[in-house]
Amino acid sequence: MDHALRRKRLVERLPELGVEGLFVSMLPNVRYLTGFTGSNGQVLVTADETVFFTDGRYQEQARAQVSEVECVFYLDGFPPAIAVARTRGVGRLGFEAAGVTYRYWEQLRERAEGIELAPIGPEVERLRRTKDAEEVVLIGRAQEAADVAFERVVLGGGLGEGITEREVALELELAMRRAGADDTGFPAIVAFGDGAAEPHHRRPHRALAMGDVVKLDFGALMDGYHSDMTRTVAFGEPPGRLREVHGLVISAHRAGVEAVHDGASTREVDLAARRVIEEAGLADAFPHGLGHGVGLEIHEEPSLRWDREDRLLEGMVVTIEPGVYLPGLGGVRIEDMVEVTAGGGRAIPRSTKELVLL
Ligand code: ZN
Ligand code: ZN
Repeated sequence: MDHALRRKRLVERLPELGVEGLFVSMLPNVRYLTGFTGSNGQVLVTADETVFFTDGRYQEQARAQVSEVECVFYLDGFPPAIAVARTRGVGRLGFEAAGVTYRYWEQLRERAEGIELAPIGPEVERLRRTKDAEEVVLIGRAQEAADVAFERVVLGGGLGEGITEREVALELELAMRRAGADDTGFPAIVAFGDGAAEPHHRRPHRALAMGDVVKLDFGALMDGYHSDMTRTVAFGEPPGRLREVHGLVISAHRAGVEAVHDGASTREVDLAARRVIEEAGLADAFPHGLGHGVGLEIHEEPSLRWDREDRLLEGMVVTIEPGVYLPGLGGVRIEDMVEVTAGGGRAIPRSTKELVLL
């Protein structure tokens, strides 16, 4: 990973932000800028240099992971970033508005004599939206672990009458770890039958019965990068209405993926998929945005929504996840991560999207 290039891109933004330095305290952003994977670290970025701060527990790790940057190890519970900024002649210091609690803000302010503090928006998050080739590889490996788990646990005949949602979630998580994932990307969501009518609800002890749809939303973590996939299958023949809806959601998903290209409007991509569902008279049954970016966090920028305007750019990885939820009956969601390439959208998972009958 070219952390120096990322820091250079951030430094180029400083004049426009009207600050001479930026204090970065959100961990995924710290990791993105330095490679540090520990649980406590901050970065001060100025035009001339970067300084990394952590506590004594991480001396060895920081020396190994953040070797090209000056490291300051502190003992008193708060990074001496403002004092360092002062010695570097910073008069106006940006900090991440979304990255500080009220208490943290007070601690910053107490130390800020002679320096003006300026809240800054999601600058590093904006850089993180566009992935480099290495990041796309890691996301692909995280997805591969999920594909293997789907194959082994779901298609492999592991779901029988009476198994609970919780047990299936656990099996998926174990299978992803066995397939090489460092961890799960988030707790797997498994919903049977009418439970699938709620986008994210879980009733973990519900037992599988004939005719249930089975909705599975899960992903893995690989070297800090996430995967995110949803599939909906059925245990025996599902209600006819849900079979129709499954076909509809696949069409909406395809329309969404086909709308993805370098420069596409995120709003238009959402609407391309949404129109398919609206035309079937089910507009109200699709109550969430079409997708989101995936990377060092499971949900990151950009957001694909009908009510927000943004642009897709080559190198972004976003989910396309239309769903239709029918209370009392069940629901269907199909989700793939899609890489934005010069030629269009490239779906990353290899798992089938068809309505498999288990
Ligand atoms: Zn998901
Ligand atoms: Zn998602």
